[in-house]
Amino acid sequence: MKLLRGASLALLILIVIAWFVLPGIVESRNNKVLHSPPYHVSAAAEALNKNLIVADLHADSLLWKRDLLKRSSRGHVDLPRLQEGNVAIQAFTLVTTSPRHLNIYKNSDSSDMIRWLALVQGWPPRTWSSPKQRALYEAEKLHNFAANSGGKLVIIKSRSDLERFLAARQPGQVAGFLGTEGAQPLEGKLDNLNDLFFAGIRMMAPTHFTDTAVAGAAAGVNKRGLTDLGRRWVRAMEAKHMVIDLAHASPATLRDVTAIATRPLIVSHTGVKGTCNNPRNLSDDELRAVAKTGGVIGIGLWETATCGTDARAAVKAMRYAVSIVSIDHVALGSDFDGAVTAPFDASGWPLVTDALLKEGFSEQDIRKIMGENVVRILKTDLPE
Ligand SMILES: [Zn+2]
Repeated sequence: MKLLRGASLALLILIVIAWFVLPGIVESRNNKVLHSPPYHVSAAAEALNKNLIVADLHADSLLWKRDLLKRSSRGHVDLPRLQEGNVAIQAFTLVTTSPRHLNIYKNSDSSDMIRWLALVQGWPPRTWSSPKQRALYEAEKLHNFAANSGGKLVIIKSRSDLERFLAARQPGQVAGFLGTEGAQPLEGKLDNLNDLFFAGIRMMAPTHFTDTAVAGAAAGVNKRGLTDLGRRWVRAMEAKHMVIDLAHASPATLRDVTAIATRPLIVSHTGVKGTCNNPRNLSDDELRAVAKTGGVIGIGLWETATCGTDARAAVKAMRYAVSIVSIDHVALGSDFDGAVTAPFDASGWPLVTDALLKEGFSEQDIRKIMGENVVRILKTDLPE
């Protein structure tokens, strides 16, 4: 009896550890920051950053077990840190599958680490084996945060939401919009797009690290382009005024989508081969093809994107992209909380403003890169 009681107690302790401690350990190991706040910038950069509309096209923060309304010592994004960075618009991108031994060359979908993450973080059973349910659950989390934020966090789903938000933005107010990393939540059926749209999702990429029923991924196995379903998906996305995000797409997929798209495209988080030559980043021709649709390219902060470890390296990539496609097509795409080591957290955006000033960009150009280009695209792409 005594032994049984001892065993039950040990099991209880294990469950408590698993529930409260493990998610924190897992996230701390995945989302590291090279330099912790506070961040110091020039007075000019600080003043300018306060006056910008800062818009970031990519953060995977909803994947982790954190209250995004509270400041955390782990990860990169939460409301207080977005407020300190003066972020006005934050894309919250939903990760629904991720292979083991993630790499930028070749990944098959035979393993899935998000299943384990869902278990460790206590996600509901419906999410354990369904990418669609994972996307819906993560979207619900953002809606709950917004509902409990006292109006500080709002979700934009339409052009009018965005216009209203920008016209009446209070200090410290942040707008989120929802996207998915890859078309995995479709689970191979275009009908599922309706449920995802209904959940507030307004952006979707054809692939994440692995190939999908829609298209081939840059780091997938077959490197193919759009499938027949993928062509129908492009048309359905455009009809619904959902934004197509070509981050992680294979070169063939990028070519296929840019050839048939009739609306501006986004690459939410990437680097450029011109400053950091690897298969994760875009070639000059790919930059041009996206810009030709009127779209924007979000430049990332992590080392695989920039081949550097600071804001200067990201600004170097921005300078290069601007030289290829002009100032109107370059934006921010941090990949915060995306299982990457970031040079700084979301409160550190003034460091990029500072680096852009030092690089010699004009105030007008900095406004465009830091957010106004994204505003333009959302005003064009989102539903009325
Ligand atoms: Zn990604």
